[in-house]
Amino acid sequence: MKRSVFGLLSAVMILIFVLATGAQAALELTEAESAFLATLDYAEAEKDLRVLVEEIGTRVAGTEAEKPAIAYIEGRLKEIPGLEVTLEDFVVNTTPSADLILDGKAYSAGAPDNNQYYLGWGSAEGEPILITDPAGLDPQTDLSGKIAFFLGNTRVATNWETKEKTVVHPATYEAITKLAAMKPEAIVVIFDFNTEETERYQLRVSRPSLTDLTLPDEIAAIGVDIPLISVNRFAYEDILAIVGEKTDAIVPLGTTAAVATRPYTKTQNIIGLKKAAEPTDRTIYVTSHYDSVLASPGANDNGSGVVMMIAIARAFAEVETDYNIAFIAFGAEEIGLKGARQYVSDLTSSGEIENAVANYNMDMIATSQEDCQYIFMNSSVDKDAPVDSIKLETYVTAISRLAAKKVDFDLDYYHVIYDTTTDHYAFHEAGVPAVEYDWRANLEGDAFEAYYHTYYDDIEHNFSLDRLKLQGDIIALAIYMDATGN
Ligand SMILES: [Zn+2]
Repeated sequence: MKRSVFGLLSAVMILIFVLATGAQAALELTEAESAFLATLDYAEAEKDLRVLVEEIGTRVAGTEAEKPAIAYIEGRLKEIPGLEVTLEDFVVNTTPSADLILDGKAYSAGAPDNNQYYLGWGSAEGEPILITDPAGLDPQTDLSGKIAFFLGNTRVATNWETKEKTVVHPATYEAITKLAAMKPEAIVVIFDFNTEETERYQLRVSRPSLTDLTLPDEIAAIGVDIPLISVNRFAYEDILAIVGEKTDAIVPLGTTAAVATRPYTKTQNIIGLKKAAEPTDRTIYVTSHYDSVLASPGANDNGSGVVMMIAIARAFAEVETDYNIAFIAFGAEEIGLKGARQYVSDLTSSGEIENAVANYNMDMIATSQEDCQYIFMNSSVDKDAPVDSIKLETYVTAISRLAAKKVDFDLDYYHVIYDTTTDHYAFHEAGVPAVEYDWRANLEGDAFEAYYHTYYDDIEHNFSLDRLKLQGDIIALAIYMDATGN
């Protein structure tokens, strides 16, 4: 295709230019570029991050708990002059979703895997109770009218070095089986996945989700009409505060709990469109995903990308551009790039994809973990090409490198790798030059921070404002140069 030939030629030309200028000769920022970078408001970005991570918290796709995040991002984009903000609804039929509402407060919840219909789907309401010791509970107990919570001790963990996955503690299955026989309205398994400091390099918890459990057959016979969900450590902390010192076999957790499970995920993309100075159909896509995994409040993954995307949109408010720019917060990335795939498939069916200039995608751009000192650009151009191969370059990676050079980022710490695991890949597959940015811990590019997808992906443990600025300036400058032709 014409675009890719042009892309490669431009990439090579820019690269030759960057390399020929050498390490010592500084590439100067233009006055306009410096002025643009000075308008990036990182204090506002950090404020946005605190809202997403500390006020809203875990944002699993399709849950009630992610809705405040959607509303917040939509509201922030609507404040930006000249942005036309729309929401796109979409449904993922292959992934189940679940909610817990405990006395009015919504928590992200995990649902059983779609392929394992061992317990019922649907909604239930009841009086929330904690079963402190399911094994010791009298089997004759009648749990009708109750939503039964208990602390599951099943742990799904991945060995950091061998990548081996372990699932232990069949006691959780036994407890589900036993409680289901007492006919509660629903069962809530609490997973207190606690990656201790000492073991954080060895054990990385993947998903505190029932998806990873293989339950024994007998459960299918007992509890077909009883919804079963899992909740995370954040819900557990709230529940512990209610329970306090009580050690009764059954501890009341409040007045009402509502549980919902559904075999699909319904969520939204948030789109803010900025029009070019002169009417055109040509559009640059600046993207990030706002959903998180159930284990995590998603500070670096990917609150960081979302708040930078908003900051860049804000900085462009006063800039006249050659292309339209669509600033997009995608939903459902963590369950398979679903929001991006939905959006790109819309562009493809409407023919708009032909006018797509580029995709700049931010995902995990502000970890504070010290050894994550390398910026990696993910391109998906050549599966067999090693890190930093010229074969991985497109004009978007080349322009990013040029931007890095202009802001004096040491190019020894700036790399390109083949990667298909984030939203940029949906654009790449459709033939659009696409790049994603993150920080990694080694030159092979195969290690993220140890807090990735864990409870500790919060502002205290896994966010650096300096790192956000380093990546943010480079990405914003690359988009600026592309969008203004400078
Ligand atoms: Zn992510």
